[in-house]
Amino acid sequence: MSLTVVGSIAYDSVKTPFGERDRMLGGAATHFALAASFFDEVRVVGPVGDDFDDASWEVLRTRGIVTDDVEQVAGGKTFFWKGEYHDNVNSRETLVTELNVFEHFEPKLSDASRACDVLFLANIQPDLQRRVREQCQGARFVAMDSMDLWINIAHSSLMQTIRSVDCVILNDEELELLTGKPTSAAAAREILSWGPTAVVAKQGKYGAALFTAEGVFALPAYPLEHVIDPTGAGDTFAGGFVGYIAAHPDEEVSHELLSRALAYGTAIASFNVEEFGTERVVRLTAEEIAARVERLQRMTAFSAGPLALRG
Ligand code: AMP
Repeated sequence: MSLTVVGSIAYDSVKTPFGERDRMLGGAATHFALAASFFDEVRVVGPVGDDFDDASWEVLRTRGIVTDDVEQVAGGKTFFWKGEYHDNVNSRETLVTELNVFEHFEPKLSDASRACDVLFLANIQPDLQRRVREQCQGARFVAMDSMDLWINIAHSSLMQTIRSVDCVILNDEELELLTGKPTSAAAAREILSWGPTAVVAKQGKYGAALFTAEGVFALPAYPLEHVIDPTGAGDTFAGGFVGYIAAHPDEEVSHELLSRALAYGTAIASFNVEEFGTERVVRLTAEEIAARVERLQRMTAFSAGPLALRG
């Protein structure tokens, strides 16, 4: 079984109240692949420029991530994003987005990438997401992410992409912006009527919620004392969530399987934010993930006890 992802592979310049990094390896597909590589063989699709250095290739190949479909464009520049966090990392401002090699990228997938069992369309232009989606007709589960930029400037293309997937993963504000609904529950209901069978609302430091026709499942974020850099947390979450589904090829993608997947996504994302960029996840271990999933489970399980209400 294998998992294919298309999305940005980037150099990020990031400033948070706790420090800054200039041109560190980032990108939605990068963070996703690192997390998902704990569950399955991951194939990354996307272009990089000839400024993409050996150290970045090495990180991109962590835990056997397959980079056969990462095209190095001669004379091109790698996608670049610059952002700054304010208010104790609770709000983010995008200062620069340079699509560079993504601007004219025509994805041609290898047979192995096309034959994926599970596909993730990480954040990038929705046209590009769809061109990859169309090549992976046999995938049993397709999920996608997006962001406010594409909701604002490529709305109708984004709508077409959404209609072609099983699961939409967006943060609360994006869900509300996309649908014009006042809450993520209302937004999720609307998106479920467009075709996808699952919607995940990412709520940053508050956690994440899953919405399907069967109901709602929600988890808080893993409680951390220090958050250094949230960049890539959403993609890392998606890598754990989608990776867990890829690791269970014989199970129907039910509300119950998706709920378990949500716990793995939540646990892995909590490591990502403890250091800058990919720094923490490249040296993460399966045992560390398992320990946080177990603590999350203990933290969230409760008994309602005997009825003790006056009324
Ligand atoms: P997240 O913090 O999970 O929202 O993802 C941050 C990552 O998304 C960074 O590593 C950026 O390189 C990447 N990114 C930022 N803006 C865009 C964009 N417009 N399209 C694709 N990827 C982006």
